[in-house]
Amino acid sequence: MSDAIIVLNAGSFSLKFSIYGVANRELNLVARGQIEGLGTSPHFKAKDQQGRSLAHASLGGSMPGFGHPEAFAHLSVWARQQFGGKFSPVAVGHRMVHGGTEFTSPTLIDAEVLSRLERLIPLVPLHQPHNLAAVKGVIQLRPDLIQVACFDTAFHRTKPKVADRFGLPDEMFGQGVRRWGFHGLSYEFIAGQLRRIAPDISAGRVIVAHLGSGASLCAMKDGQSVDTTMGFSALDGLPMGTRCGNLDPGVILFLLRQGWNVDRIEDLLYKKSGLLGISGMSNDVRVLLASDRPAAAEAIEFFVHRIVREIGSLTAALGGLDALVFTAGIGENSPVIRQRVCKGLAWLGVHIDPDANGHGSTRISPAGQSPSVWVIPTDEEAVIASHTLAVVRALKGGPQEETRLCRLTD
Ligand code: AMP
Repeated sequence: MSDAIIVLNAGSFSLKFSIYGVANRELNLVARGQIEGLGTSPHFKAKDQQGRSLAHASLGGSMPGFGHPEAFAHLSVWARQQFGGKFSPVAVGHRMVHGGTEFTSPTLIDAEVLSRLERLIPLVPLHQPHNLAAVKGVIQLRPDLIQVACFDTAFHRTKPKVADRFGLPDEMFGQGVRRWGFHGLSYEFIAGQLRRIAPDISAGRVIVAHLGSGASLCAMKDGQSVDTTMGFSALDGLPMGTRCGNLDPGVILFLLRQGWNVDRIEDLLYKKSGLLGISGMSNDVRVLLASDRPAAAEAIEFFVHRIVREIGSLTAALGGLDALVFTAGIGENSPVIRQRVCKGLAWLGVHIDPDANGHGSTRISPAGQSPSVWVIPTDEEAVIASHTLAVVRALKGGPQEETRLCRLTD
């Protein structure tokens, strides 16, 4: 029987999971899925490494008490039935949104770490409580499992202070009012892939465009974050599916004076803005591109305009640009958005080959063109699994060699 690593990504109403088998120096994805509808009507879905359905079932009607612990319990029972004789879980790796300044690398979770992570909740009240609920669910059911937290903020702790602060009184920086940056696990994966695919380029000045339902850009030098568009929260920077992106704080003051309360403003900024807010119809780029409504075209135009503007800004922060990488749902799958962004960057010398872009080739700029342009699928779960395995090996005193990550597409 082989060891297995479970990766959990807990959201407010869902628990996403991946299960990796460990063999020699390799981590192999064996299943991936999610339990959606937590607190209402939970639904379980799982697929194998080829994307074939392994499970697709409603877990009952109205179940308000079905939270993260219950979801992990269901996952454990299912995994035992599905893989019982083949794999035995040894550890759980968690996507943890915020590590503050204390957690800059993957961390073994014990009671002390758990309480330090709870103290970071005020910085991310909408996300960290759910991440921690999943940790506690595992402790309840399987206290024997090793648990490891991997942080979305950690990759950005290499940013210089000038890119980390706001123009606010200095004491606020010390209180945590700073530009933390997010999507760090995705950027770490891309930095690793780029080192493998194009080592000389990865050593240079690179901007990675993580364009998914959440969207941000990261400027990297030698594979390390030097600046990013997201700031204190996951609202800043680029407009997203339903989030506003960069906003003059004067708007918040205006709304407060108009009698809006915090919950209503939060709902506006997180759930009713971005592509959905501007188009008035959808947060999905596919739907907007297929629509002939002027508001859909305006939303896409705004999205592309802001990406182009922010790439210009980060290029200045880097002192030039050697490569641009597209990743995440939109970046990996939409040739139209890639083409429109690159057209807006023609002044920078960015050119792409339309055929390579249409096929989603790894390199979509012509050979010899600089800056080069790349499409690299991201895999945050693989990064978490790899870190978790490294912690397990360190605890067991085993060899610390690098683990090979096997993606679905490998
Ligand atoms: P992610 O958060 O990385 O899973 O990305 C989800 C988003 O990717 C969705 O909201 C879609 O807007 C977008 N997406 C997925 N496939 C495509 C596609 N073929 N073309 C454009 N956008 C896509």
